[in-house]
Amino acid sequence: MTRTVYVNGDYVPEDQARISVFDRGFLFADGVYEVTSVLDGKLIDFAGHAARLARSLAELDMAAPCSDAELLEIHRDLVARNNVTEGLVYLQVTRGAADRDFAYPEHPSPTLVLFTQHKILANSPVAEKGLKIISVEDIRWGRRDIKTVQLLYPSMAKMMAKKAGADDAWMVEDGLITEGTSNNAYIVKGGRIITRHLGNEILAGITRTAILRFAREAQMVVEERAFTLEEAKAADEAFITSATSFVHPVVQIDDAVLGNGTPGPVARRLREIYLEACRSAAI
Ligand code: PMP
Repeated sequence: MTRTVYVNGDYVPEDQARISVFDRGFLFADGVYEVTSVLDGKLIDFAGHAARLARSLAELDMAAPCSDAELLEIHRDLVARNNVTEGLVYLQVTRGAADRDFAYPEHPSPTLVLFTQHKILANSPVAEKGLKIISVEDIRWGRRDIKTVQLLYPSMAKMMAKKAGADDAWMVEDGLITEGTSNNAYIVKGGRIITRHLGNEILAGITRTAILRFAREAQMVVEERAFTLEEAKAADEAFITSATSFVHPVVQIDDAVLGNGTPGPVARRLREIYLEACRSAAI
């Protein structure tokens, strides 16, 4: 079945969607994106994603392509037109097409593209099996708080993990873990949940915000601070969060097996709480 995708105001079959070769997203990775999950045909945390999109755009002096209400309508339309009960909506905004020039065009006309993907989220086998992680040097740019489409290094790191027989990579800068290739990283030690504090070094995950709130509401102790690779390898358990994985347990970091090598209780509990809360708050 061909998907219906959204391009600059039109809903079109995916094979008829067109973007200019002069689009600055294509030429300069001059664009930002969001991924919103769909469960039971409804959007998870749309407001959080819309707010982060607005922030990413503002940091790059890009105008919003439309209002949040219009964005919500497009998301819902696409979910309905493509019969998505479980999966995701991908949204990308670029500065649009202009003659190739490093300077931003004076009168940009932004490109807005959205499409859907079906994906099993709630019953993901990874939740039961856990992830094997390798550590790699974090050589990304210094503004990881902006959700740009320049994802080549995270993509390379994912391939390094695959080649090493692992599932994903955590990135390390000055001996400290920043985050996963496409997720936030957490360890649990002595009952305390430790995850990197926000800053330019990591993306402020929408799932991270929700998980930390739920953890605190459940009387769990949360420490938002940088942690070392050594601390991570000696942790009782570890996990990641992202919009499409929710909470996935980590069972191995490089050659260090965590606990007994199976998903830990904190990750399991947080995944349960998150799924339940999201289902009831989805729109
Ligand atoms: N960090 C990075 C680098 C990411 O790419 C993502 C997912 N896009 C996240 C963290 C998690 O963010 P979210 O919970 O909003 O999906």
